[in-house]
Amino acid sequence: MAETTIAARVCETPGCDKAAKLQCPTCIKLMIQGSFFCSQECFKGFWTEHKKVHKKAKQDADINNDSYNPWPGFKYTGQLRGYPVSSKRSVPDHIARPDYAEHHEGVPLTERQMRGSTNIKILSEEEQEGLRVACKLGREVLDIAADTIDIGVTTEEIDRIVHEACIDRECYPSPLNYYCFPKSCCTSVNEVICHGIPDARPLENGDIVNVDITTFHGGFHGDLNETFFVGEVSDNAKKLVKTTHECLSQAIAEVKPGVRYRDIGNVIQKHAQANGFSVVRSYCGHGIHQLFHTAPSVPHYSKNKAIGVMKPGHSFTIEPMISEGTWRDEMWPDNWTAVTQDGRLSAQFEHTLLVTDTGVDVLTQRRENNGQPHFMDNM
Ligand SMILES: [Zn+2]
Ligand SMILES: [Zn+2]
Repeated sequence: MAETTIAARVCETPGCDKAAKLQCPTCIKLMIQGSFFCSQECFKGFWTEHKKVHKKAKQDADINNDSYNPWPGFKYTGQLRGYPVSSKRSVPDHIARPDYAEHHEGVPLTERQMRGSTNIKILSEEEQEGLRVACKLGREVLDIAADTIDIGVTTEEIDRIVHEACIDRECYPSPLNYYCFPKSCCTSVNEVICHGIPDARPLENGDIVNVDITTFHGGFHGDLNETFFVGEVSDNAKKLVKTTHECLSQAIAEVKPGVRYRDIGNVIQKHAQANGFSVVRSYCGHGIHQLFHTAPSVPHYSKNKAIGVMKPGHSFTIEPMISEGTWRDEMWPDNWTAVTQDGRLSAQFEHTLLVTDTGVDVLTQRRENNGQPHFMDNM
């Protein structure tokens, strides 16, 4: 091992040109390069000025590593932390957008006018075709997002790819500015139930992440999501994700004219509970067409009081959120990120559905691999 060359070092103290061999111990600890002094006298004499270097280094470290905290004093329920969120992306002028895209508080005025109404719209043939196209494009965008998921990729990077895939398809990414939501999709990691905001956190080996896409095209919204594995996940995470997908499949199998919307939750909760999991109650499936969220409301838990009976031409989502431990949720101070109260995992799958004369069309169905979700590709 060679001896460290110190002969060329010169004292940090301005005006002192003497050779310097003493290195500041704090700088060594903080891994700051340089900071050599010729003597204790020079080190002490320049201390007031020099110690600013330490403060600056500590601040930089706070921004760049895990100790970054946008909400000091907030008690997180699990391991996940808030990370910096980059600024909103823009959508070119030629792409048609929903009313809330331009509203300064992101308020969907047409949706608001319908609020409280339990009247479920029956889509005409032409409207059904419009919805089909929006859903097909949404599926394409989710498939592109699926290909980007990997250890070390930030959720913000997934959002960027989603945003560009939307624009390439003449779609407005529906989440963007909806009640001021700042990004173009939702990314929900581990204990996040739904509505996670894409940020600078790199995905880690063992994470599960849900990506929720909604595309607005030709006046219609198409909405779907899947939960993905990042690297090698735990057996219980696998079981949770698999069970959640089965809950959605079993619920979809119930859909046909004459079925009550309130019965969907019974099937989902029964299957979740049989596997030792719980059903989130605060977030529901929803009617979707020219409006992003409208009647009917479709709870995923049993014995609910949802209003309405399925009829041909109805379009809505089913999107069960199934949790490892408690069903209870809590909100981060960003007023979007819903997390489990016990910090344990939560998974979700979603499709946009159209009731037909005899059953259901899954408009956001994957076209490859027999329509199976991406997480099953490597199982
Ligand atoms: Zn969705
Ligand atoms: Zn939805």
